[in-house]
Amino acid sequence: RVAMVGAGVSGLAATKCCLAEGLEPTCFEQSQDIGGLWRYTEHIEAGRPSLYPSVISNTSKEMSAFSDFPFPEHFPVFLPNALLLDYLRRYAEHFSLREHIRFGTTVVSIRKHPDFATTGRWNVVTEAEGKQTSHVFDAVMVCSGSFSEPSLPLQCFPGMERFRGQYFHSRQYKHPDVFQGKRVLVVGMGNSGADIAVEASRVAAKVTISTTRGAWLLSRVFEHGYPWDMILNTRLMSLIKTNLPGPLSWWLINYKVNRWFSHENYGLQPENSWLVREPLLNDDLPSYILTGRITIRPGVKEFKDNSVLFHNCPEEEPVDIVVFCTGYTISFPFLEESVVRVENKHASLYKYVFPTHLQQPTLAVLGLIKPLGGIMPVSEMQARWVSRVFKGLCQLPPQSVMEKEVNEKKKNQIQWFGLTFDEVLKTEWLVYLDTLASFIGAKPSVLGLLCTDPRLALTIFFGPCSPYQYRLGGPGRWEGARQAILTQWDRVLKPTRTRVPAGSSSSFPCLLTVVGFLLLLAAVIFGF
Ligand code: NAP
Repeated sequence: RVAMVGAGVSGLAATKCCLAEGLEPTCFEQSQDIGGLWRYTEHIEAGRPSLYPSVISNTSKEMSAFSDFPFPEHFPVFLPNALLLDYLRRYAEHFSLREHIRFGTTVVSIRKHPDFATTGRWNVVTEAEGKQTSHVFDAVMVCSGSFSEPSLPLQCFPGMERFRGQYFHSRQYKHPDVFQGKRVLVVGMGNSGADIAVEASRVAAKVTISTTRGAWLLSRVFEHGYPWDMILNTRLMSLIKTNLPGPLSWWLINYKVNRWFSHENYGLQPENSWLVREPLLNDDLPSYILTGRITIRPGVKEFKDNSVLFHNCPEEEPVDIVVFCTGYTISFPFLEESVVRVENKHASLYKYVFPTHLQQPTLAVLGLIKPLGGIMPVSEMQARWVSRVFKGLCQLPPQSVMEKEVNEKKKNQIQWFGLTFDEVLKTEWLVYLDTLASFIGAKPSVLGLLCTDPRLALTIFFGPCSPYQYRLGGPGRWEGARQAILTQWDRVLKPTRTRVPAGSSSSFPCLLTVVGFLLLLAAVIFGF
């Protein structure tokens, strides 16, 4: 019997994977519906994530799908939040997940059962309609997400106590009319900051974004108009990124992200451009900077009564409203600190999933990772691995090995990503997926396929690493996986080629990638 906390993306995938392994899942959801983050409500509910209605997914439908359930072909390539929720509803329906979910039920505490050392069981206390109930479960998957608790570090902004204008956290933001005719300051340039600044600038008198570190900005409409993640997240690209010497891979990233526009000229150049930071996906921001609707400034030095001073800028800027787009903190109020300890927005977990020090591997945290790619296939892969560990079909390494890896990872991430905010949670998407897939025997063998199915092998290696690749073999094999891979570009073209019928050019992007990167490889090999 496995308990799931939360019926969002991770909780749904976890419930489905438990069923697939013959386990008995019970998913506790505090609200009355599924969808977690992706279920928009106009009213902000305590303890739940809150979206603004214009949120569109940052990753394309083919790279965001659960591995055995492609998005409907008529859905747009990037998904407005309502369609993403629609997809999750179809998923829950298709795999009959709802009957395993207890709505309106909050998990209050999860404690080790007295016989935990031998059985690994957990005492779980839930509350529904004011009544508490105790349960005993053999294992627990924590799927409660990391976007419910806003981080509002007012103490980092001198003078904030005397600022007389209005201020709020991005979690509070719903519609741009609050900015009508106002001078707006957006603090923090993550994806929320960029989205909100763009929306505000359509009605506000003036919009300024303050960013301490700057950021790489990508367009959803990437090279030749194809989705960015279908071009960048390929096996070939991953091979190049992870094997090129540091300076060369830095140059390659720098070159790729500056092809759209020069980040330096637009005041966006990341402070340490050799550190990888979560890229921003925003198609409007550069043109809004170019047309003067949005101004980029450095970090805030001090707030005054009705204005703000920036570092390295002598003039005060008048401000009416400040929106703090300063991200989120994570916490697990139902767990003891001795089970999962959160430090600097980070929990030290083996492969971002398992606490390293428990006598029994019967508790896992899902979705606590920010890969540079779609999160849904990642949560799903974690759930597939975890349910096999719970079932005893996969073993974790000894505690000392897991701890060593967690500590080394932290050091490496510091070197690659810099230790600021929640960056330790970021990781290479494809490498991570492959690693977990190899644990459960679902990693595709490109060389093996080259002999038996060369067309598929080439598509897998040169084309986008769509999640269906992880259903070609091994446990949970899906009959439709091969076809889903070979038709992935058709589903991308279907909703856009609405005037001229789709032809046979679906292999075009794949071909482009092959030629482009073979040229690049040749340049690298012969140039050095
Ligand atoms: P975020 O990515 O965590 O960014 C928060 C930003 O706040 C930081 O990058 C930093 O910006 C600034 N900041 C944080 N602490 C600060 C401090 N003490 N002092 C000054 N500045 C501070 O938060 P978010 O933008 O809310 O995004 C949260 C997650 O949701 C991200 O993973 C994001 O990709 C995702 N998201 C997705 C979508 C979408 O799919 N369309 C939309 C919105 C958000 P600077 O370095 O620039 O100062």
